[in-house]
Amino acid sequence: MASRQVGLFFGSFNPVHVGHMILANFMATRTGLDEVWLVVSPQNPLKKRGTLARDHDRLHLVELAIGDTPRLRASRVEFDLPKPSYTIDTLAVLRDKYPEYDFSLIMGSDNLASLHKWKNYELILRDFSIKVYPRPGYPGGEFLDHPNVAQYDAPLMHLSATYIREAVREGYSIHYLVPPAVAAELHKSGMYR
Ligand code: ATP
Repeated sequence: MASRQVGLFFGSFNPVHVGHMILANFMATRTGLDEVWLVVSPQNPLKKRGTLARDHDRLHLVELAIGDTPRLRASRVEFDLPKPSYTIDTLAVLRDKYPEYDFSLIMGSDNLASLHKWKNYELILRDFSIKVYPRPGYPGGEFLDHPNVAQYDAPLMHLSATYIREAVREGYSIHYLVPPAVAAELHKSGMYR
Protein backbone atom coordinates (compact mmCIF):
# COMPACT_ATOMS: atom_id res chain seq x y z
CA MET A 1 0.00 0.00 0.00
CA ALA A 2 1.28 3.49 -0.80
CA SER A 3 2.21 5.49 2.28
CA ARG A 4 0.07 8.37 3.36
CA GLN A 5 1.39 11.70 2.18
CA VAL A 6 1.66 14.18 5.03
CA GLY A 7 2.68 17.82 4.61
CA LEU A 8 4.17 19.55 7.65
CA PHE A 9 3.36 23.18 8.21
CA PHE A 10 5.53 24.58 11.02
CA GLY A 11 4.79 27.76 12.91
CA SER A 12 4.46 29.43 16.25
CA PHE A 13 0.76 30.02 15.55
CA ASN A 14 0.66 32.82 18.10
CA PRO A 15 -2.25 32.77 17.41
CA VAL A 16 -3.37 30.75 14.41
CA HIS A 17 -5.30 32.87 11.87
CA VAL A 18 -7.26 32.35 8.66
CA GLY A 19 -4.13 32.96 6.54
CA HIS A 20 -2.62 29.80 8.04
CA MET A 21 -5.85 27.83 7.67
CA ILE A 22 -6.48 28.81 4.05
CA LEU A 23 -2.98 27.75 3.16
CA ALA A 24 -3.13 24.49 5.15
CA ASN A 25 -6.44 23.54 3.55
CA PHE A 26 -5.18 24.41 0.06
CA MET A 27 -2.11 22.22 0.52
CA ALA A 28 -4.16 19.39 2.04
CA THR A 29 -6.66 19.27 -0.80
CA ARG A 30 -4.92 20.43 -4.00
CA THR A 31 -1.32 19.26 -3.99
CA GLY A 32 -1.55 15.48 -3.79
CA LEU A 33 -1.27 15.30 0.00
CA ASP A 34 -3.52 13.18 2.19
CA GLU A 35 -3.03 15.31 5.30
CA VAL A 36 -1.44 18.50 6.58
CA TRP A 37 -0.16 18.67 10.13
CA LEU A 38 0.18 22.08 11.74
CA VAL A 39 3.28 21.63 13.89
CA VAL A 40 3.28 24.08 16.79
CA SER A 41 6.79 25.28 17.69
CA PRO A 42 7.55 25.34 21.40
CA GLN A 43 8.92 28.26 23.35
CA ASN A 44 12.67 28.37 23.51
CA PRO A 45 13.45 28.31 27.25
CA LEU A 46 16.59 30.38 26.63
CA LYS A 47 14.62 33.19 25.06
CA LYS A 48 12.49 35.70 26.86
CA ARG A 49 8.87 34.75 26.44
CA GLY A 50 7.61 38.22 25.47
CA THR A 51 4.29 37.94 23.67
CA LEU A 52 4.61 34.24 22.83
CA ALA A 53 1.69 32.45 24.50
CA ARG A 54 2.18 29.13 26.29
CA ASP A 55 2.74 26.04 24.15
CA HIS A 56 -0.48 24.34 25.20
CA ASP A 57 -2.60 27.42 24.70
CA ARG A 58 -1.33 27.87 21.14
CA LEU A 59 -1.84 24.17 20.43
CA HIS A 60 -5.36 24.37 21.81
CA LEU A 61 -6.16 27.30 19.50
CA VAL A 62 -4.89 25.30 16.51
CA GLU A 63 -7.08 22.36 17.56
CA LEU A 64 -10.07 24.70 17.81
CA ALA A 65 -9.28 26.17 14.39
CA ILE A 66 -9.17 22.71 12.84
CA GLY A 67 -12.28 21.39 14.57
CA ASP A 68 -13.41 18.43 12.49
CA THR A 69 -11.91 19.66 9.21
CA PRO A 70 -10.90 16.61 7.21
CA ARG A 71 -7.20 16.15 6.42
CA LEU A 72 -5.92 18.69 8.96
CA ARG A 73 -4.26 17.81 12.27
CA ALA A 74 -2.42 19.65 15.02
CA SER A 75 0.96 18.28 16.11
CA ARG A 76 2.78 18.81 19.39
CA VAL A 77 5.77 16.67 18.43
CA GLU A 78 8.30 19.48 19.00
CA PHE A 79 7.15 20.11 22.57
CA ASP A 80 9.06 17.03 23.73
CA LEU A 81 12.23 17.59 21.69
CA PRO A 82 15.39 19.41 22.81
CA LYS A 83 15.06 23.15 22.25
CA PRO A 84 15.58 24.92 19.99
CA SER A 85 14.24 22.25 17.65
CA TYR A 86 15.83 21.95 14.24
CA THR A 87 13.58 20.83 11.40
CA ILE A 88 15.93 18.03 10.35
CA ASP A 89 15.77 16.56 13.87
CA THR A 90 11.98 16.82 14.00
CA LEU A 91 11.79 15.09 10.63
CA ALA A 92 13.98 12.24 11.89
CA VAL A 93 11.76 11.79 14.95
CA LEU A 94 8.61 11.80 12.83
CA ARG A 95 10.02 9.25 10.37
CA ASP A 96 10.90 7.00 13.28
CA LYS A 97 7.58 7.37 14.99
CA TYR A 98 5.38 7.11 11.90
CA PRO A 99 7.12 4.81 9.39
CA GLU A 100 3.85 4.42 7.50
CA TYR A 101 3.81 8.11 6.53
CA ASP A 102 5.71 9.95 3.83
CA PHE A 103 6.49 13.46 5.11
CA SER A 104 7.04 16.60 3.09
CA LEU A 105 7.57 20.24 4.09
CA ILE A 106 5.38 23.22 3.40
CA MET A 107 7.13 26.57 3.36
CA GLY A 108 6.91 30.09 2.00
CA SER A 109 9.28 31.30 -0.71
CA ASP A 110 10.89 33.49 1.99
CA ASN A 111 11.95 30.39 3.91
CA LEU A 112 13.07 28.59 0.77
CA ALA A 113 15.30 31.54 -0.11
CA SER A 114 17.14 31.18 3.21
CA LEU A 115 17.08 27.38 3.38
CA HIS A 116 20.88 27.27 2.97
CA LYS A 117 21.12 28.59 6.56
CA TRP A 118 19.17 25.65 8.04
CA LYS A 119 20.90 22.81 9.85
CA ASN A 120 21.65 20.00 7.34
CA TYR A 121 19.67 21.68 4.58
CA GLU A 122 21.27 19.42 1.95
CA LEU A 123 19.76 16.39 3.67
CA ILE A 124 16.36 18.05 3.88
CA LEU A 125 16.47 18.80 0.15
CA ARG A 126 17.69 15.33 -0.71
CA ASP A 127 15.26 13.33 1.40
CA PHE A 128 12.04 15.35 1.55
CA SER A 129 9.87 17.06 -0.96
CA ILE A 130 9.13 20.71 -0.31
CA LYS A 131 5.90 22.42 -1.26
CA VAL A 132 6.39 26.14 -1.62
CA TYR A 133 3.85 28.95 -1.65
CA PRO A 134 4.80 32.40 -2.86
CA ARG A 135 5.42 35.19 -0.36
CA PRO A 136 5.25 38.59 -2.04
CA GLY A 137 8.72 40.08 -2.40
CA TYR A 138 10.54 36.73 -2.13
CA PRO A 139 11.33 35.06 -5.47
CA GLY A 140 12.43 31.84 -3.72
CA GLY A 141 16.09 31.77 -4.69
CA GLU A 142 18.41 29.07 -5.92
CA PHE A 143 16.40 26.02 -4.78
CA LEU A 144 13.20 26.77 -6.67
CA ASP A 145 14.35 24.54 -9.55
CA HIS A 146 15.44 21.67 -7.33
CA PRO A 147 13.69 18.40 -8.33
CA ASN A 148 12.24 17.98 -4.83
CA VAL A 149 10.78 21.49 -4.75
CA ALA A 150 7.36 22.34 -6.20
CA GLN A 151 5.69 25.72 -6.14
CA TYR A 152 1.95 26.20 -5.79
CA ASP A 153 -0.13 29.25 -6.46
CA ALA A 154 -1.94 29.19 -3.11
CA PRO A 155 -4.36 31.95 -2.17
CA LEU A 156 -2.63 34.28 0.29
CA MET A 157 -3.93 36.62 2.92
CA HIS A 158 -2.05 39.71 3.90
CA LEU A 159 -2.37 38.82 7.58
CA SER A 160 0.01 38.00 10.41
CA ALA A 161 -0.28 36.79 13.98
CA THR A 162 1.34 40.05 15.04
CA TYR A 163 -1.57 41.92 13.49
CA ILE A 164 -4.06 39.75 15.39
CA ARG A 165 -2.26 40.23 18.72
CA GLU A 166 -2.17 43.98 18.23
CA ALA A 167 -5.84 44.09 17.33
CA VAL A 168 -6.74 42.13 20.48
CA ARG A 169 -4.54 44.30 22.67
CA GLU A 170 -6.06 47.47 21.25
CA GLY A 171 -9.60 46.15 21.63
CA TYR A 172 -10.44 45.88 17.92
CA SER A 173 -12.62 43.15 16.45
CA ILE A 174 -10.86 40.06 15.05
CA HIS A 175 -14.06 38.74 13.50
CA TYR A 176 -13.28 36.97 10.17
CA LEU A 177 -9.52 37.20 10.82
CA VAL A 178 -9.42 34.01 12.92
CA PRO A 179 -11.77 31.02 12.85
CA PRO A 180 -14.90 31.63 14.98
CA ALA A 181 -13.91 29.07 17.64
CA VAL A 182 -10.52 30.80 18.00
CA ALA A 183 -12.15 34.21 18.34
CA ALA A 184 -14.46 32.85 21.03
CA GLU A 185 -11.58 31.29 22.97
CA LEU A 186 -9.46 34.45 22.76
CA HIS A 187 -12.40 36.43 24.03
CA LYS A 188 -13.11 34.03 26.88
CA SER A 189 -9.52 33.54 28.01
CA GLY A 190 -8.30 37.10 27.68
CA MET A 191 -5.17 35.88 25.85
CA TYR A 192 -3.12 38.69 24.23
CA ARG A 193 -5.14 41.33 26.00
P1 ATP B 1 4.08 36.58 13.51
O1 ATP B 1 3.33 37.77 13.01
O2 ATP B 1 3.93 36.36 15.01
O3 ATP B 1 5.52 36.52 13.05
P2 ATP B 1 2.88 34.73 11.51
O4 ATP B 1 1.44 35.01 11.26
O5 ATP B 1 3.86 35.08 10.45
O6 ATP B 1 3.36 35.27 12.93
P3 ATP B 1 3.82 32.03 12.14
O7 ATP B 1 3.13 31.20 13.14
O8 ATP B 1 5.19 32.43 12.40
O9 ATP B 1 2.81 33.22 11.87
O10 ATP B 1 3.67 31.39 10.73
C1 ATP B 1 3.74 30.04 10.46
C2 ATP B 1 4.03 29.90 9.02
O11 ATP B 1 2.93 30.46 8.29
C3 ATP B 1 5.27 30.65 8.59
O12 ATP B 1 6.01 29.82 7.73
C4 ATP B 1 4.75 31.85 7.87
O13 ATP B 1 5.61 32.21 6.81
C5 ATP B 1 3.40 31.39 7.36
N1 ATP B 1 2.42 32.46 7.28
C6 ATP B 1 2.22 33.46 8.13
N2 ATP B 1 1.22 34.26 7.74
C7 ATP B 1 0.76 33.75 6.59
C8 ATP B 1 -0.26 34.13 5.67
N3 ATP B 1 -1.02 35.20 5.86
N4 ATP B 1 -0.46 33.36 4.58
C9 ATP B 1 0.32 32.28 4.39
N5 ATP B 1 1.29 31.88 5.22
C10 ATP B 1 1.53 32.59 6.29
